[in-house]
Amino acid sequence: MAKIKPKYIIGHWTAGNYEPNYTDMESYDLIITGTGLKIVGNHELDNNKSSTAGMNSITYNISCCGGLDRTPLTKVQCEAFFKAVAEKLKQFNLAVDKFYTHAEIGEMVSNGTITKLLPNNSYLKDNKGKIDLTKLPYELNGKTSGDFIRNKIQWYKEKGGRCRNNLKNVYKNIKF
Ligand SMILES: [Zn+2]
Repeated sequence: MAKIKPKYIIGHWTAGNYEPNYTDMESYDLIITGTGLKIVGNHELDNNKSSTAGMNSITYNISCCGGLDRTPLTKVQCEAFFKAVAEKLKQFNLAVDKFYTHAEIGEMVSNGTITKLLPNNSYLKDNKGKIDLTKLPYELNGKTSGDFIRNKIQWYKEKGGRCRNNLKNVYKNIKF
């Protein structure tokens, strides 16, 4: 199976337990457990999975285990998720506005704006009504969950960049 080159990263939850089951392992590129561990899915970067209907060939899909009333997302898990998305955006050379939640994709299909991401296709309608990542263990202060998440991702993206720059400055100031 040829490797895909992602144009977008989509955030999900599994609507299941805090550990991935077989279906989860088959469905997502990367999975974050309830305790914040990263697990690479069985089909990372290939097109043979069903994460985001009609978009699997152009998306990298990261999913948090949980999302049910009995398995609400945890803070340690969400922070690991934000950091993982930041790292993947850097790896694929994508800006933070190339991240969407699955719920946002569903909304964009419903209101027709999905065509700004890709041409319409017959599978996209299966994303309607998705509620992935709409409940988070934070005070959102009026932000949508998508905007809140992008804000967090951006923080991790910049923090990583700053660390590297600081290190460069340290080396520059050393006289040999
Ligand atoms: Zn989803």
